Amino acid sequence: MIGVVGRSEQHQSELEALLAAPGVDEIIRITHPFKLASRNFRPEGSIVELGKGVSIGGAEVIVAAGPCAVESAEQIGEIAGRVARAGAKLLRGGAFKPRSSPYSFQGLGEQGLKLLREAADKNGLLVVSEVMDPSQIEMMLPYVDVMQVGARNMQNYHLLRALGESSKPVLLKRGMSATIEELLLSAEYIMSGGNYNVMLCERGIRTFDTYMRNTMDIAAIPVIKHLSHLPVVADPSHGTGRRDKVPPMARAAVAAGADGLLIEVHQDPERALSDGAQSMYPEHFAQLMDEMRVIAPAVGRRIARP
Ligand code: PEP
Ligand code: MN
Repeated sequence: MIGVVGRSEQHQSELEALLAAPGVDEIIRITHPFKLASRNFRPEGSIVELGKGVSIGGAEVIVAAGPCAVESAEQIGEIAGRVARAGAKLLRGGAFKPRSSPYSFQGLGEQGLKLLREAADKNGLLVVSEVMDPSQIEMMLPYVDVMQVGARNMQNYHLLRALGESSKPVLLKRGMSATIEELLLSAEYIMSGGNYNVMLCERGIRTFDTYMRNTMDIAAIPVIKHLSHLPVVADPSHGTGRRDKVPPMARAAVAAGADGLLIEVHQDPERALSDGAQSMYPEHFAQLMDEMRVIAPAVGRRIARP
């Protein structure tokens, strides 16, 4: 299948001529403003290879877990071991933190990435970490398996274009006030540069309700799966902001067809440098993994045992 980007209404006669060319079976016009991200482009869905034999978008639901931010070797080392033993496949942890206040902890930078990589390698995990600026990409490439684009950067088009130039998988988070179409158009920026290794992440949106940090848009999961062939990841941690609400939303996300989950876990959340209130204790995370293992087969999926 060959995808051609352009304005088909201006090229009607060329399209008709192409239909007569040898080897052309059918021409399907994709009417969505997003083309490469559209389900029409790959009706069977995409499987994105993340490394070490782990891929997302198939029958297995992939879980990434870890602290909001890398804080120290001891912190990330312990959490890595705990989430790996519960069955997570990726270790998450921010080294560059986009904080609402410039006075909050901003992350350990490259040192944090080194600690993250070491902790992941010791436990057979892959690494996902946030990139905030195009200037960080080159430095980050050896340390991470997946580049996370945060909600605040979903429409940072320079960053998206720069990520389109590499083949490193990208976890693109939905902006807090972004529509689903805007999310898919942001994915299109990355894909139009040639990088098709994109996952989309629902992480809660801003609504009129202020009870929780965000409103977890569970319905966005089947909607995006319908509109796009890209794997969908759910982040119930940022989606709710409260650790006791993470398990029900994680279970719902699996039931709704998510291909992956991103969950914050911390061994001492009361003292976490960021997002402690939504970080799960490692033992509760392990229990949640067991619960999700029961739900997954009901919707034709599975979650691997460690
Ligand atoms: C995070 O994953 O820690 C994060 C900052 O997420 P978001 O960009 O969704 O707020
Ligand atoms: Mn966080």
